[in-house]
Amino acid sequence: MTAAGFDPKLLQGPRAETDARAQAHFAATMDLVCDYHPYYRARLREMGLGRDDFQSPGDLSRLPLTTKHDFMAQPDAFLLNAQNVPPEMTVIWDTMYTTGTSSGTPTPFVSTAFDYYRVMAMYRRILGLRQVNERDLIANLCPLTVYPHGAYHRVTAAGAAMKIPVINLLPGRPSPHFELGSELDEVVGGVERSRATILWGVASYVRRVLIRAAELGADFSPVRIAYITGEAVTQALRDNFAACLRKAGAPHAVLHVSYGITEIQGGFAECSPGAGFHNPCPEDIHVQVVHPVTHQPLPDGERGLVVLSHLNRRGTLLLRYATGDLSVLTRDRCPHCGANTDRFTETPQRADALVKIKGMLVNPEALEAAVLSVPDVQDYQALIEREDPSDPFSMDRLRIRIIASTRHAEVPERVARAVKHAISVRPEVECVEPAAIYGRDGSLKLKRLVDRR
Ligand SMILES: [Zn+2]
Repeated sequence: MTAAGFDPKLLQGPRAETDARAQAHFAATMDLVCDYHPYYRARLREMGLGRDDFQSPGDLSRLPLTTKHDFMAQPDAFLLNAQNVPPEMTVIWDTMYTTGTSSGTPTPFVSTAFDYYRVMAMYRRILGLRQVNERDLIANLCPLTVYPHGAYHRVTAAGAAMKIPVINLLPGRPSPHFELGSELDEVVGGVERSRATILWGVASYVRRVLIRAAELGADFSPVRIAYITGEAVTQALRDNFAACLRKAGAPHAVLHVSYGITEIQGGFAECSPGAGFHNPCPEDIHVQVVHPVTHQPLPDGERGLVVLSHLNRRGTLLLRYATGDLSVLTRDRCPHCGANTDRFTETPQRADALVKIKGMLVNPEALEAAVLSVPDVQDYQALIEREDPSDPFSMDRLRIRIIASTRHAEVPERVARAVKHAISVRPEVECVEPAAIYGRDGSLKLKRLVDRR
């Protein structure tokens, strides 16, 4: 067994085996971090801590939390830059992007070849938890984006890890220079033609595809799994999905919800609906739930901030990284699948100011910076609404009302383009009179981001 050895059965074995692997990965990682990681070397120096202060993953609690803002402010400082290691640990395989900064630029998350191999191994576990097999075919319903995003690219990696086919249906049009995007009906047609057994995408979009399939009378009978990610899913939405699958002609299909996180390039997976979100690689990903104020680990079963540490990465590497979500952790063996791994037993909820729109994690500061970068825009208000207000599970709609100093028709289009560029969500933009935003007396504090969902 090598340090990075992949054992598909590991989750079923004794926890002590997993912990031994985690310990070996942690030791190798901390050796490299203490020598080469720009950000954590500086933190350790400031705190007067050295390699000897980190004997086991539990000692990570000596470090302060790394917040999203810490990471966004200087992403290059989180690149390991290891020397004297095998080439696969330094070759850059790809760069995916996560939440934008206030400057509007999404944050790069870099994987070396080694990291990519580990990501594939993680997906083998994730799909194993869902009983995906060699007869399955995945329809990738995640959109291609301008900034490469794991949601799209890792579906292909997952198919490769299982050695099963993936059909990329390319919904959406990220750029006028990309001419191969599919309209909704083409996506429905692609699922039907390919006889896909797994639909994989952002919850609201997968649901839209199912609704359209029912309207068109498309044959979705081969579909057996809807794998949804990107948005918190309530029990009501799960029930609604079951109805949508039934109407689309796939009454026996099951819904699998993933707690997807860019910083693990994958997700915490359910083995069966409602069974909790399993850590697919506890030997590579250390999870804690910590007190929101003291940041110290909480006993299992208590709600707190979800904190992740990479035990086995060589590109972007984060320790005690606060995801910004609140959940509850258990280390009890899963009663459904028998996995002996960490599980989040509550649907994670966002604890900070970042908001999800159409499955994209959006920084309101980046949205604001984009709107206000357009000349002639004086003020604005962004409304996040349901496309169909009578449908509680409808797709999100982002509407931006602007007050402009000119009636020039180009201004709304410029705002739409700037916002799309910054946050990858295209808004509807309209010019309004100041009273429409400020109210009649103009003295109340303006709420610039209104979430009506
Ligand atoms: Zn399970």
